[in-house]
Amino acid sequence: MRDIATVNKPPLGANERRLPRLVRFFEDIVKVPLFRCQRCGECILSSTAFICSQNCPKRMRNGPCGGTRDDGSCEVYPDRACVWYKIYVRSRLLNRVSLLYRFNRIHNWNLEGTSSWLNVLRKRIESPIWFVRDDQRDMRP
Ligand code: SF4
Repeated sequence: MRDIATVNKPPLGANERRLPRLVRFFEDIVKVPLFRCQRCGECILSSTAFICSQNCPKRMRNGPCGGTRDDGSCEVYPDRACVWYKIYVRSRLLNRVSLLYRFNRIHNWNLEGTSSWLNVLRKRIESPIWFVRDDQRDMRP
């Protein structure tokens, strides 16, 4: 059975938290201005059409909460567009809608504030999906 959360991995030790600060610094330089990265440590940008889902006020990782208004605005902040509405629109533009059917693991808060890049290298989290093959574009679960 597939893991639904990253909880089976050992927790980060004190040394491991200190060591990657430099990497996270460079990761922040790239991802904060470009994607408004919230430093969740479990990056799912590649499956959300390169829009950070963690800008959702409810930090939803697998689609909208259900409160999205008819005009596509957010339930919590009606003056903003729902992050997941924007993800869907861009996924269609980029032909990446099939990736929205993927299950993103429940967030492991122990990884919050850590470097996603290092977490990929250490195989704590899955690698990003850069390309969607033609036969996967209309993939359904
Ligand atoms: S690491 Fe998390 S918060 Fe940062 S861009 Fe990726 S999904 Fe968003």
